[in-house]
Amino acid sequence: MDFFDFHHHKKNVAYGIYNAEPNVTPPDIPYSIGIHPKDIDINLIDNQLDWLLSNINENCLAIGECGLDSLVSIDQKIQEEVFLKQIKIANELKKPLIIHCVRKFYEVISFKKYAEQPMIIHGFNKKQNIAEDLLKKNFYLSFGKPVLYNLSLQHILKIKPLDKIFLETDNEDFNLEELYKKTSELKGISLEKLNEQIIENLETIKNG
Ligand SMILES: [Zn+2]
Repeated sequence: MDFFDFHHHKKNVAYGIYNAEPNVTPPDIPYSIGIHPKDIDINLIDNQLDWLLSNINENCLAIGECGLDSLVSIDQKIQEEVFLKQIKIANELKKPLIIHCVRKFYEVISFKKYAEQPMIIHGFNKKQNIAEDLLKKNFYLSFGKPVLYNLSLQHILKIKPLDKIFLETDNEDFNLEELYKKTSELKGISLEKLNEQIIENLETIKNG
């Protein structure tokens, strides 16, 4: 059985969404493309947006990762401007948005009103109240390796509706099947059923 990897950085994984490397032409596999807050260069932002726009083809499944990060040195106002620009690109191209968020969840929520396409928070690793607030605002959450050992995240995944989740490896080196197995146990469903549901979720976000 193959397991869809919602957000990853491996050029040799074709079943998932590869996150395009900045300023490089994406490989010939399904990918997402965006400007990560840490990569914003205020002097080159127009070139960065050009790179993004000129590298969108039929393999592009989403815009991102993009978002807000309180731990990077880029000015918050600039981060917000670049984030909003990418939300507008996603609206125009009708692509979902893969969101990177570090300690800026309520700011990201405040940007939801501009987005006409689904927003997926990748690598969700925070508390239940934040998960609930995101859920109320119709965000999807993508979970990674910490679910294997973090009890609080396991609880969130357990109560989170199945039609709002994705699973990913991101930068971590581990077997994605373990994460699917853990999730199917938490949800009390078979691995096959979980796999089907994730693919259904993917179709839903692709269709806006
Ligand atoms: Zn990543």
